[in-house]
Amino acid sequence: MRSFEYNGFPSRVIFGLGSIARLPAEVELIGAKRALVLSTPEQADTVGRVAASLGARVAGVFDKAVTHVPVEIAQEARRVASDLDADCFITVGGGSTTGLGKAIALTSSLPILAVPTTYAGSEMTTIYGITADGAKKTGRDVRVLPKTVVYDPQLTVSLPRTLSATSGMNAIAHSVEALYSHEGNPIISLMAEEGIRALAVALPQIAADPIDLEARGGALYGAWLCGVALNGAGMALHHKLCHVLGGSFDLPHAETHSIVLPHAMRYNRDAAPEAMRRIAAAIGAEDASQGIYDLEARLGVPMRLADIGMKKTDLEEAARIATERPYANPRKVEYEPLLALLRDAYDGRRPSS
Ligand code: NAD
Repeated sequence: MRSFEYNGFPSRVIFGLGSIARLPAEVELIGAKRALVLSTPEQADTVGRVAASLGARVAGVFDKAVTHVPVEIAQEARRVASDLDADCFITVGGGSTTGLGKAIALTSSLPILAVPTTYAGSEMTTIYGITADGAKKTGRDVRVLPKTVVYDPQLTVSLPRTLSATSGMNAIAHSVEALYSHEGNPIISLMAEEGIRALAVALPQIAADPIDLEARGGALYGAWLCGVALNGAGMALHHKLCHVLGGSFDLPHAETHSIVLPHAMRYNRDAAPEAMRRIAAAIGAEDASQGIYDLEARLGVPMRLADIGMKKTDLEEAARIATERPYANPRKVEYEPLLALLRDAYDGRRPSS
């Protein structure tokens, strides 16, 4: 067996239907008395109910989280946390809300209790991102890793059908790249493969019936494992492309991941045969990139960058930026084949065999 490094990070997980009822006890367990609860404006109602269940342990609610953590919002939230003398943050939401919690934890070192309501996986990572002057800067710091994560499938039934599917594909993308990462290791690969398998089973069930709680639980379990995979192994070409498309061309996060994934996998196919074999086995397909494409077609998600706001005239610029400082990737990242990949994703073409 080849040599490898593995880093385990401490994180307590409470998983299961109705587990949100255990939040007050979890706040008590970390010794906090003045929680600041964070959310997006769209989830203010859910968060109001969660806050009410915490009674006197809530110091306040800040419901202005938006995508990509603009520095102005982070600064405002930091001021509110300081004015309220908050001693922990409870994030109830997707990656945008968890991200806001991380931005405050970064400067205050206070603990985060995360209650994820999408499949983005940020609650399992030491990765944070803050956007200033139109550019998102990311980094890693163990202070931003949530101390406790409460996964309650009930809180995800309201996640709309399409976002459920694209968010699930975002999670699968973490595991796909962990399986062929230059920092990969057998432990992370186990979790990555199981995460892909769980999501590939659950997502079509959710597409058929969004209030199927068994399927919602399966997807959340898969998302957890994929989040660990994202944290445990460096990401590659797919994540680089999505950062470029989201950061420089303002495309929506989960949809972009979903559309680009089969094409990035096709790009890497011959350079990462073992990873592709494991992915194909996890989704029950002959070919990994085609299997992912077929799964997405079945889920009814957008399949073309053209449909989510990308301009054809920007494809060359995107390929140029993505080749500038590429992430480590199994296959060399070169302009012409990357442009071909982006054109395929733009038109939503099925990956070639
Ligand atoms: P999001 O958090 O932006 O949520 C999208 C929308 O869905 C929001 O309007 C939100 O209020 C709503 N929503 C969330 N859960 C819902 C529910 N259960 N019911 C109804 N509506 C719900 O989307 P996301 O895809 O989870 O997160 C994307 C962001 O997270 C990006 O900025 C991305 O860069 C970041 N991210 C970071 C990491 C990391 O490790 N740091 C990992 C993954 C994603």
